Amino acid sequence: MRNTPIVRARRRRRPRVEQAIATPEEPPSWQSLYAQPKECVICGGQFAPNGSTKTCSAECHAEHHKRRRKKINAKYTANPANRNKTNARRRKNYPANRDKINADRRARTAANAHPKQCVIDGKWFIPKGKQKTCSPECSKALAAKGQARRARKWRRKYYATRQIEQNAM
Ligand SMILES: [Zn+2]
Ligand SMILES: [Zn+2]
Repeated sequence: MRNTPIVRARRRRRPRVEQAIATPEEPPSWQSLYAQPKECVICGGQFAPNGSTKTCSAECHAEHHKRRRKKINAKYTANPANRNKTNARRRKNYPANRDKINADRRARTAANAHPKQCVIDGKWFIPKGKQKTCSPECSKALAAKGQARRARKWRRKYYATRQIEQNAM
C-alpha cells in the first residue's frame, strides 16, 4: 500500500542531433565513423542514436514505453490464472483503499471526458461509455430508428424473395 501520491517521473531530454556530433577539432572516434542515423520506431524521424536507443525524443520514448507496457500487460492478462490473481488482489485491496481508488477513477474519467453530440437532436453531452444520445428519450428514439431500419430491411428482402419465387412459377 502506498500513501504518497504518485509523482510522474520528470522527462529527461535526450541530446539533440547537433549535440551528439563531435566537435571538428577532435579526431573522429571509431564510433562516430560507423555512426548511422536511425529511424525512430514511433514517428519515423531520423536521429543520432545513443547506444541502442530506438526513439528520437522523450515524447516518442514515452509513447514507445507505453505501447510496450500495453503489449506486456495484454500477454499477462491473456492467461486466466494471472487474471484471477490480479482480480483477487484487487478484491482484497479495495476495502482498505476504497476512497483513493474511487477518487482516482473519477479523476481518470473526468480527464477522458470529451463532450459528444447527440445523434438524435445534436445536443452536446458528456458520454458514459459508448453512449450515443443525450437523454433516455433520445436513446428510445435511436432504438426505434434502428428497429424501423431493420424492419424495412426485412420487408425488402421478404418481398424480393417472393418476387423471385413468383417469377420462377
Ligand atoms: Zn520519434
Ligand atoms: Zn439528444
